[in-house]
Amino acid sequence: MSGFAAKTLSEWKQSHPLLLPLCATEALFWLNPLRKTGAEAMQGLPLGPEDVQDAAARLQRFAPLIAELFPETAEHSGIIESPLRRIEAYQHRLEGVYQTRLPGDLWLKCDNQLPISGSIKARGGIYEVLKYAEQVAVDAGLLQWDECYLKLASAPLRALFQQHQIVVGSTGNLGLSIGIMGAALGFQVTVHMSADARQWKKDLLRSKGVGVIEYAEDYSKAVEEGRKQAAEQKNSHFVDDENSADLFLGYSVAAERLKAQLDAAGVTVDAEHPLFVYLPCGVGGGPGGVAFGLKQQFGDHVHCFFAEPTHSPCMLLGMYTGLHDQICVQDLGIDNLTCADGLAVGRASGFVGRVMEPLLSGVYTVQDAELYRLLALLHQAEGIALEPSALAGVPGAVQQMNSASEYIQNNGLSGCAETITHLVWATGGSMVPADEWQRYYQQGTVLAEGQAE
Ligand SMILES: *Cc1c(COP(=O)(O)O)cnc(C)c1O
Repeated sequence: MSGFAAKTLSEWKQSHPLLLPLCATEALFWLNPLRKTGAEAMQGLPLGPEDVQDAAARLQRFAPLIAELFPETAEHSGIIESPLRRIEAYQHRLEGVYQTRLPGDLWLKCDNQLPISGSIKARGGIYEVLKYAEQVAVDAGLLQWDECYLKLASAPLRALFQQHQIVVGSTGNLGLSIGIMGAALGFQVTVHMSADARQWKKDLLRSKGVGVIEYAEDYSKAVEEGRKQAAEQKNSHFVDDENSADLFLGYSVAAERLKAQLDAAGVTVDAEHPLFVYLPCGVGGGPGGVAFGLKQQFGDHVHCFFAEPTHSPCMLLGMYTGLHDQICVQDLGIDNLTCADGLAVGRASGFVGRVMEPLLSGVYTVQDAELYRLLALLHQAEGIALEPSALAGVPGAVQQMNSASEYIQNNGLSGCAETITHLVWATGGSMVPADEWQRYYQQGTVLAEGQAE
């Protein structure tokens, strides 16, 4: 016997005491003891800077086509990127709410505003569809690598893509990205949706001619079924959210773009001015890819943390036990039910967990009620509307904006508390229908008021 079954749950709890609060779905903060620094951190990784560069160059080749197919991207010449925003009013608001001073500068990476699909999935998901389209076109002898990619919107290529199918399993947002981009190029797309997926996402995809198959089970089941169906059909590509290096690399390109944005904003990242980044984590590909790119870009000067719902702490569980994808939250009796639908994943990607082992600073968990409350407060302070998943980064920043935090102390950073840049990665929200978002907001204001009294 191996994996979780090698020991009883009570033996696991004895050897890994953090499993007690984890099983009780308490919010907790885990620091990764396997993190390495210097050149050692990058040794033996299955991917390197040349892979990130290859992905960035591919997105550049596709930019004219993207600008043509999605006019909202024309302003940035077909480059799908989001704004970076200093959120000082929110920082002050949080000081009031948490009754503590929060030194350092708080920023928001607004992936909720990413064009085309309004979430971080517009990075990895769209990239993988483009890479597949390129491969199909080149294999058919209808595209040369150095040609203008506008050709991919022409009738002969559309006809070619119509004979190919793209399949994906999703809690919602990945399906949106793959479905919208796949359909725009002419592919047949089938999205296998978990029970968490919101109705409006399914409706939107169906309106674009995308096939949507619904499951009463969670994300792992939707992925498993999608994988099975794709394997049975020819000319079929399965976007494997649990294992795809392409998705991962699509996300990683964010790092060089962020570097340019920080430079433009006059924000330095060095030993005296570290960058702390807080990334909401589902299966791990999105936050993993971004963090991987950031470590390539900034090395030891960047500190990356993943955030998960207390009811879906799959990456924390996999990394803490070292079992990665050989354990799931349901093994511990945790229900994987959360309002953070983008993060409702019970079993993490083993591929991402292993890549992150030497790179990640830590993983923490957040209660649903906290997500709602932070959602309402952000809108009140800055006028920014996010979906619940996208707030998960905030509590991590609040905890690390404190020179007494264990992590800050362990890393000799207490002298830098005032000069740390804390960046919360806002992963989605702009496509949520107004009435649905109002319900989130109402929940959040009730909770925020309850707190203030
Ligand atoms: C998918 C998603 C994430 C996390 O990405 P993973 O690749 O699943 O870890 C975070 N936030 C939102 C809004 C998402 O849709």
